[in-house]
Amino acid sequence: MSRILVLAAAKLSPLYAALLEQRFQLLDRAHEGDAAAFATVAATIRGLAANGDSRVGAELMARLPALEIIAVMGVGYDGIDVAAAKARGVRVTHTPDVLNDDVADLAIGLMLSAARQLPAADRWVRGGDWETRGAMPLARKVSGARLGLVGIGRIGQAIAQRAAGFGMQIAYTARSARPGLPYRFVADAQALAAASDYLVVITPGGAGTLHLVDAGVLRALGPKGILVNVARGSVVDEAALIEALEQGTLGGAALDVFADEPRVPARLKALPQVVLSPHIGSATTATRQAMADLACANLEACFAGRPLPSPVPECR
Ligand code: NAP
Repeated sequence: MSRILVLAAAKLSPLYAALLEQRFQLLDRAHEGDAAAFATVAATIRGLAANGDSRVGAELMARLPALEIIAVMGVGYDGIDVAAAKARGVRVTHTPDVLNDDVADLAIGLMLSAARQLPAADRWVRGGDWETRGAMPLARKVSGARLGLVGIGRIGQAIAQRAAGFGMQIAYTARSARPGLPYRFVADAQALAAASDYLVVITPGGAGTLHLVDAGVLRALGPKGILVNVARGSVVDEAALIEALEQGTLGGAALDVFADEPRVPARLKALPQVVLSPHIGSATTATRQAMADLACANLEACFAGRPLPSPVPECR
């Protein structure tokens, strides 16, 4: 019996690719190079496997007439044209929840790193400054400080639970208040920033949140404030962020995501009060395996005609 054809929309995690290869015939996008040969297989491709940062537009979908599902390994799916998929009757799935702990752990780690200047402390020891210059400049306290969360969904709540363990005073903003949560709701990001020492951004990306954290929000966070972004680079106005850090109108930042990954502006890299990580929110072996398992389970369910384990909200 011929195997179901699944196209990789981007370079996939080896864990996801290995599962797909066991179950399906996996094609990579190099096949599109030969347009005539691709057109023959394209007619039988039933699944598209993608990452959280993959771009899948209407044009690619139009070339895949048998496409039934786009299975994203990642919770964010802002790169997928979901409206175009829905219009073609293509389901879109993602991998929520299984990565909450890791992303929340990283957010707390970045907040502590920026506040206590851990990368600079490491450099201070390795570079010999401890011996020649003595003690480091004093850092900022985290325990008991005011934390503002921009977004209080699955991951935002996991961050809040951890921050409560540090005795932080927690408030949040979102489009709507969640009355069941024991945290203070603030209607907009600027007012939240004005009442926060640390502002952690954890909303989806895409048009709805583009530059939600703008120059005004950064000014409100202020010269002692620290911004942590584990959401998407698009949510923060990166040019305004660099300006604020260079001018000292913002105290510091810790960033896992950027406007044009994997390219990071040299001006940002040059700032010592900034901690940088290469989009590693969910990057542990255990979590990436759980994400790959869930993404694959969605494909299998789709082809077997069973309910999908984790469709995106628009496709439920
Ligand atoms: P979620 O459960 O859907 O939560 C999203 C939160 O953002 C909700 O509180 C939502 O509240 C709020 N929100 C959405 N649009 C908003 C807007 N325009 N203005 C203000 N708040 C808004 O999502 P999640 O599972 O926590 O994941 C959040 C995001 O984290 C993902 O979409 C992804 O982009 C990012 N992420 C990053 C990494 C990484 O490696 N750094 C890993 C995983 C996820 P309302 O709907 O009430 O507005």
